[in-house]
Amino acid sequence: MKPLSIEIIGSGVAGLCCALLFAQRGCTVTVHSASQGFDQSCCSWWAGGMLAPWCEMATTGAIIGKLGHDGIKFWAQHHAGTVAKGSLVIASQRDLPDLHQFAARTEHFERCNASDIEQLEPDLAGRFTNGLFFPEERHVDPRAALGETVALLRTLPNVHLRFESALSLEQLTTPTTEDWRIDCRGLSARDQLPTLRGVRGEMLVLQTRDITLHRPVRLLHPRYPLYIVPRHDHQFMVGATMIESDYRGKPTVQSVMELLSAAYSLHPAFAEAQIVEMGADVRPAFPNNYPKIVQNGRTLFVNGLFRHGFLCGPALAQRAVDFVLDGHIDTEIWNEYTA
Ligand SMILES: Cc1cc2nc3c(=O)[nH]c(=O)nc-3n(C[C@H](O)[C@H](O)[C@H](O)COP(=O)(O)OP(=O)(O)OC[C@H]3O[C@@H](n4cnc5c(N)ncnc54)[C@H](O)[C@@H]3O)c2cc1C
Repeated sequence: MKPLSIEIIGSGVAGLCCALLFAQRGCTVTVHSASQGFDQSCCSWWAGGMLAPWCEMATTGAIIGKLGHDGIKFWAQHHAGTVAKGSLVIASQRDLPDLHQFAARTEHFERCNASDIEQLEPDLAGRFTNGLFFPEERHVDPRAALGETVALLRTLPNVHLRFESALSLEQLTTPTTEDWRIDCRGLSARDQLPTLRGVRGEMLVLQTRDITLHRPVRLLHPRYPLYIVPRHDHQFMVGATMIESDYRGKPTVQSVMELLSAAYSLHPAFAEAQIVEMGADVRPAFPNNYPKIVQNGRTLFVNGLFRHGFLCGPALAQRAVDFVLDGHIDTEIWNEYTA
């Protein structure tokens, strides 16, 4: 039987996960992307890369935990650089009630006292007395993980990557000549998915040799869920603001001050760090902040990944494959298209 041909639009985390999983099932895959590759034009470029389903459950629903569990398995299998050291949530003495509330809304954690925190993160010794450790959580460097995915896709004979190939709305509303179209355009798909909205996120990358962290550390804060993710070469990604806006411009002074002050309250050594990078992009989100697959004939939209692109993108891609190749529908995330 002739393999199914799949047209994928977009090369962010959703598009690249779909491309890989369809290709691995023997489909002929063509990716069209407005981007020059996996690059700064994708929201996915700016992500922290945290695979933290149980931390996220404290502010979202169980569905994120379920999809995220699959995401952790996907990255462990597909990206050797996946770091399996868990994540740590801490709060200053003043914000301890927030830590208790956080604990009440989630699971899969161990409570930590000052000496546990010191064992996990020696550089935080003496700074925090209470925390929650989530041993099963993971993290990736998004640029390394998706850079590697693109490199792998380039080697597969059944995959064709067409970068700098933006499709117009007219092309996107004309039925595809391939068997299926998988639309992974992130926020740009608002022209066909009008309930999609933008949630702006700003981030920084700092570099210092004066502090070592082994895992993402979240600092509970009344305004933003702030976190610091260690990366290669003594770099730290500090993220991320959550602003109801679709403005993609550079980070604002206020946001940068808040991110920097969070880093400083985690450890004053960050005061001497170099600011290597500042960035911002807009997360695609549906009204309930849960991702969806929306079916319109032979087009599937994989979208609404909000702050969970790396966490939940692989599970959504797997569900798209399960539907197209095996006819399985996951009703929790499935929606029929309504114009
Ligand atoms: C600061 C920040 C931190 C984050 N941290 C995390 C985190 O720690 N963990 C996590 O899981 N998630 C995180 N996220 C969320 C994650 O980045 C998003 O959920 C994810 O990037 C959405 O991916 P996407 O593939 O849907 O969209 P995108 O990455 O934006 O990709 C869309 C693609 O579609 C292409 N495209 C658009 N229009 C067209 C067209 N007409 N024709 C062809 N191609 C087109 C674009 O060029 C692009 O390649 C974070 C986000 C931000 C901003």
